[in-house]
Amino acid sequence: MTHPAQPKASHFINGEYVEDTAGTPIPVIYAATGEQIATVHAATPAIVEQALSTAKAAQKAWAKMTGTERGRILRRAADIMRERNHDLSVLETYDTGKPLQETLVADATSGADALEYFGGLAASLTGEHIPLGEDWVYTKREALGLCVGIGAWNYPTQIACWKGAPALACGNSMVFKPSETTPLCALKVAEILIEAGAPAGVFNVVQGMGEVGGALVTDPRVDKVSLTGSVPTGKKVYAAAAEGMKHVTMELGGKSPLIIFDDADLDNAVGGAINGNFYSSGQVCSNGTRVFVQKGIKEKFLARLAERTGNAILGDPMDEATSFGPMVTENQMNIVLGYIEKGKEEGARLICGGKRADMDGYFIEPTVFADVTDEMTIAREEIFGPVMSVLDFDTEEEVVARANDTEFGLSAGVFTRDFTRAHRVIGNLEAGSCFINSYNDAPVEAPFGGVKASGVGRENSKEAIKHFSQVKSVYVRMGDVDAAF
Ligand code: NAD
Repeated sequence: MTHPAQPKASHFINGEYVEDTAGTPIPVIYAATGEQIATVHAATPAIVEQALSTAKAAQKAWAKMTGTERGRILRRAADIMRERNHDLSVLETYDTGKPLQETLVADATSGADALEYFGGLAASLTGEHIPLGEDWVYTKREALGLCVGIGAWNYPTQIACWKGAPALACGNSMVFKPSETTPLCALKVAEILIEAGAPAGVFNVVQGMGEVGGALVTDPRVDKVSLTGSVPTGKKVYAAAAEGMKHVTMELGGKSPLIIFDDADLDNAVGGAINGNFYSSGQVCSNGTRVFVQKGIKEKFLARLAERTGNAILGDPMDEATSFGPMVTENQMNIVLGYIEKGKEEGARLICGGKRADMDGYFIEPTVFADVTDEMTIAREEIFGPVMSVLDFDTEEEVVARANDTEFGLSAGVFTRDFTRAHRVIGNLEAGSCFINSYNDAPVEAPFGGVKASGVGRENSKEAIKHFSQVKSVYVRMGDVDAAF
């Protein structure tokens, strides 16, 4: 019998499901059991061509609609997503293994927020009038054209919407390639947009690995590429986009600092560290995986952290009581287990976890290392799993310098009751998305993105509009033209 997660076909192009079984089969494995629940096929060159030519053809008419009309469609799509939240959350859980307890509140809901927010902004995308005596200049905010979105595997619904919603609001069309690890959810986003009234071809989904992503990025018809992925992939995609002078948004990896001062509220700081390391089993780009704890509070912090981490419920992700799911794939589990071994070898003190959980699926126990030093591998490399490194510090000046000593710059957080210090520390940290007495909140109203190797551009908020549109300026002369000859 076909599993309920199996989509009707692999791709969604020009308003309908499309299949081409000549493409390499991609198995979809449910991480909680290891069972194959679906198969899709990587896009063949013919599918890539179909998607790009369709999106190119659909864009002009879409951009000519009024912002109010485009916005209404996006907001209708948001309503449909909310009505179907339960089914979409179950699919997200099948796609990623994340527990339903999370997916019910963080995935289709976050996607719907983006569709609603950018739907609301679509009608207000205007230029300005610049008076120059008798003459004047006016500006127009125009669509970029055909955009390509490429997703990572941790938030397949959210990533499709965070890219698709602002792109479409500005009058662009999009070809979206989900991660080959989680190909299912973006197809539902495409289906819902069509149901909400989007013209066929403005949002298309094609499957495949990096090769398909590469074919999309290098096509001369593409005007912009928005990638969510790792730094090494980001470098390749950025370079390929530069060849064609294309616009880019790069949402890449991190190794973010979370700084906890002695005067912090202990339970809030522990809660922030848990949210910033164990949500989605640690598979979150903005995670605060270097937890710097001031020496005076350290042992109390570790004791409370170990106690609360012991309350994590590992189990069937479809059971809403489960609060901690598996790694997305066996491969990712093995990478993370490798880092845990490195942590032990390099002399970090294991506080809790530290091994694969004794159950089916790709579960790793939530793991905390203390006495981690700046040189250790677990303090330098992005692990993308449930491994928290706790490092000690004495002074503010010292911790800021150490926090910034990394190629990454996605996020940063600080816990303290001293607000002057909180703002000063955040002001000195090299990071794009920061938190004071909180961690990992990502409302659509707030800009999201990194500095340094963590990325270029911003998603969400009014900032995203700038990255999916461009300004045309028009000089209007009212009098005669004065020429030299
Ligand atoms: P990845 O870099 O392996 O893959 C990301 C996407 O790029 C996939 O769809 C992949 O098929 C595609 N790709 C790979 N090579 C390509 C190429 N040469 N040309 C075009 N496309 C190519 O990342 P992943 O393992 O799927 O995701 C984990 C990474 O993503 C982590 O580093 C994480 O921090 C990052 N991430 C960042 C954010 C953010 O918003 N900053 C969010 C989620 C994940």
